[in-house]
Amino acid sequence: MKVSICGIPHEVIDVDYIESDNGRCVGQITYEECIIKMRKGMNSNYYRQTLIHEMTHGILAMIGRNDLTSDEVFVQSLALAISQSFDIKEVIEVLEEVKENV
Ligand SMILES: [Zn+2]
Repeated sequence: MKVSICGIPHEVIDVDYIESDNGRCVGQITYEECIIKMRKGMNSNYYRQTLIHEMTHGILAMIGRNDLTSDEVFVQSLALAISQSFDIKEVIEVLEEVKENV
């Protein structure tokens, strides 16, 4: 699966394990390689939230706010705000409707 972060395609890869300090990491973005690793076994809601969290890291890096990418509380707050404000399926349906009306 691929997701777009500020127009740049990122590969999403499901993996068994993600190396981290506490061993509890469920998602990880590698900015230079444009890869998001997601740990297998998450339920769909948790997976979605984790993916949006990693994409938020990517967005902040893309807009040049590297100072904020390591602030996990800020990233998670923004990710929650985004995920609670936009239903991706809803947005796609609205876009389809707009296309049909043009
Ligand atoms: Zn994070």
